[in-house]
Amino acid sequence: MSDTAAAEPPIQVVVIPVTAFQQNCSLVFDLDSKVGAVIDPGGDVERILQVIAENGVSVEKIVLTHGHIDHIGGATDLAERLGVPVVGPHRADQMLIDQVEAQARQFGVEGVRAVTPDQWLDEGDDLSIAGRAFQVLHCPGHAPGHLVYFDPELKFALSGDVLFAGSVGRTDLPGGDHDTLIRSIREKLLPLGDDVTFLPGHGPASSLGHERKTNPFLR
Ligand SMILES: [Zn+2]
Ligand SMILES: [Zn+2]
Repeated sequence: MSDTAAAEPPIQVVVIPVTAFQQNCSLVFDLDSKVGAVIDPGGDVERILQVIAENGVSVEKIVLTHGHIDHIGGATDLAERLGVPVVGPHRADQMLIDQVEAQARQFGVEGVRAVTPDQWLDEGDDLSIAGRAFQVLHCPGHAPGHLVYFDPELKFALSGDVLFAGSVGRTDLPGGDHDTLIRSIREKLLPLGDDVTFLPGHGPASSLGHERKTNPFLR
């Protein structure tokens, strides 16, 4: 028998798949204070608001990993509804962010609005999410300004579209570069440790160790 009370994690992560891209928007909050953040609200803002209300969470910020439409499309609406700032990604994604409304028309996605981050982030910054200090890692390749947020104590990363369970981010979109992406994974993510769990922008969570050993793109 294990002591479940002692083993209980201090934060909860609720994944809310949004948009036709099934993007893993996540609500990350402190189980005691119920203070938290929304990561990558790509769309389906009413659904996100519903999950926030169901969990009784007081959202203090919206955090973006990178500037693609499926990650940022609902950010402005949600920020206005909640009265909170939008933080991240890295300034190098300004070009992608500027194109988001044109991209929405191209893909026929409705309800997407332009986003102006209140704060850009950079490698080495600390970002408070749910009262915890997440490290900011700049991991270009899928997008030039892609950031990964890492909690070294919990050994948990919010990794966007850099690395997936069994795959890696696509690099055929503007600003993408496959060699740069693989270098980001090898030099920034894998050194964090095999026992790190990461939640990607699409699909299931995995561990860095499992991907280091089995991901065909990292062989
Ligand atoms: Zn992306
Ligand atoms: Zn995505």
